[in-house]
Amino acid sequence: MNKIAILTSGGDAPGMNPAIRAVARTAIFYNIEVVGVRYGFKGLIEKDFFDMKRSSVADIIQKGGTVLFSARCEEFRTREGREKAYQNMREEGIDALVVIGGDGSLHGVQKINQESEISAVGIPATIDNDLSCTDYTIGVDTAMNTILDAINKIRDTATSHERTFVIECMGRDSGYLALMTGLAGGAEFILVPEIDFTPQEVTNRIVQGFNKGKLHSLILIAEGVKAPFVDLTGYNGSPGLAMGDLIREKTGMETRVTILGHLQRGGSPTAIDRIIASRMGAKAVDLLIEGHRDIMINYKDNSIGSCKIADAIVEKQQIDMDIYNLSSILSM
Ligand code: ATP
Repeated sequence: MNKIAILTSGGDAPGMNPAIRAVARTAIFYNIEVVGVRYGFKGLIEKDFFDMKRSSVADIIQKGGTVLFSARCEEFRTREGREKAYQNMREEGIDALVVIGGDGSLHGVQKINQESEISAVGIPATIDNDLSCTDYTIGVDTAMNTILDAINKIRDTATSHERTFVIECMGRDSGYLALMTGLAGGAEFILVPEIDFTPQEVTNRIVQGFNKGKLHSLILIAEGVKAPFVDLTGYNGSPGLAMGDLIREKTGMETRVTILGHLQRGGSPTAIDRIIASRMGAKAVDLLIEGHRDIMINYKDNSIGSCKIADAIVEKQQIDMDIYNLSSILSM
């Protein structure tokens, strides 16, 4: 292997920069040339390449976002678009590619391995933690800490005014972020797409809580919650806003809604995100050198390894019911 290209694709996640740094510096350590690709798969098609040196990744380990920029690229979903990308990589002498991104990006990695001679591997990076075969995706820990910080602040004001607060967090179709931060933040109720609930159960719990002397009620709701659990008609897709109105209507209690939005994607990566990103980046290069391809680097049972891309994207992680039940018990 002579030349490795690196790109980041899909939604950005804190920790992408330490992963880029680790891939580039490990490859350079083994005397492999490194090419940075700007704007994800779009950059492959448009040949937006530049040579990377050790210094190209200096002073980025602490930065959120991605210095390689990211993009969603419809053209790469077409065979014609991908052929342009393969041709550009061949012309540049690139024989291996590391893609740092989420579920969609890994589908792209699979296509590259199926359709070309280029060895492509994926590093899971998405705050949603919605991939199979890995306990962890880069960015999740930072996002959880950001959400937790918001919950703590909202808790202060909720207690002072004896209010109910609905906090909507990201995660696409996955309830992982809501579940984990709900547990860590002591939410009274956690609403996720994977677990059935009726709005009546939520309002009953809120009323019971206040009757028992609770000073506030915090409801964590994942952005992926939708009908039949919550009717989103007229709420522009926001289950948090819909739930807030419903609680007000059914309980008469003062209820505020906070949609955390994109602030969950930013920020300096935590120690955990930096450590795992660094280890995954180095592992990707090690496995490419050993001749592996069509794999995703993973983190399972406290160790860094790999799995087939097909296994990572086939089925989404299920919610951990033990954690859900524990959270219910602790917040009663
Ligand atoms: P996040 O989880 O943060 O949204 P992601 O990697 O899942 O990140 P997507 O927008 O789903 O983000 O995918 C990123 C890019 O991967 C797409 O814009 C497209 O270029 C490429 N891609 C996705 N699916 C495929 C596919 N089936 N075949 C080829 N390329 C794909």
